[in-house]
Amino acid sequence: MRLENETAFITGAGSGLGRAAAERFAAEGATIVAADIDTDGLDETADRVADAGGEVTTHELDVRDREAFAAAVDATVEEHGLDIVLNNAGISHGRTDMETIEDDLRDRVIDINVKGVWNGCRAAIPHLKEQGSGAIVNTASLAGVIGAPKLSAYSLSKGAVVNFTRSIAAELGPHGVRANAVCPGVTDTPMPREDFGQGNWEETKAEMAKQYPLRRLGEPEDVANAMLFLASDEADWITGHALVIDGGYSIS
Ligand code: NAD
Repeated sequence: MRLENETAFITGAGSGLGRAAAERFAAEGATIVAADIDTDGLDETADRVADAGGEVTTHELDVRDREAFAAAVDATVEEHGLDIVLNNAGISHGRTDMETIEDDLRDRVIDINVKGVWNGCRAAIPHLKEQGSGAIVNTASLAGVIGAPKLSAYSLSKGAVVNFTRSIAAELGPHGVRANAVCPGVTDTPMPREDFGQGNWEETKAEMAKQYPLRRLGEPEDVANAMLFLASDEADWITGHALVIDGGYSIS
């Protein structure tokens, strides 16, 4: 098993990519610490991980709350140790022209997608540096690498995550800690269903898939597999990388 005796702290674990990562990492032997603002979603993730024989603890957490984040990470270190931090919680804002996005909504996107990742790293890095090992994986987006029309605030936030990840990777390398980002294209979770699926989602999905060389959108497991690779020792010489997982969309 690829994550035996390791503990992974995962935010946004109550849905979509975070839940898929929790299940995938647990299947590879990791103890899962699942955090989310949505307690119903968290409970479902915990049930799934436990039903499959995994070990899981949950924390109701708003990633914008730096003190609560630090407390949850400290408790994790105390109880289980900490090896992997997956800063994955995030929101989108629907497809909207730049000039019509309200400042409040833009700020909410930045607070959760950028400062949430910052808070997670701020909480975990002292522990990881002290032990001289650890892997951080931050969920950015293809929108943070190539941009995306009508997703300007979201792209702004995800571009920040990519470059922030590169910066901390350079800083943490000498301490034995790696940091990478994943940059998924559209992946079938509740998020794009809200952003793009105003009509019939299955029809929209089939239509969008035509723009992808591999002729399908991503499934949560596609991204969870990439997260697993970057979190595992197999990526031991990979840091500061922004891994695009997009079925070839960005080269088409
Ligand atoms: P999702 O909506 O299914 O899951 C997001 C999770 O984050 C939810 O459980 C939600 O409760 C949680 N969350 C939101 N705000 C929070 C907060 N303040 N504190 C704690 N938790 C909070 O969406 P998803 O597709 O699984 O998204 C996961 C990550 O992947 C996000 O960062 C998203 O931007 C990114 N992403 C998704 C796609 C995609 O197409 N699905 C593509 C690229 C990047």
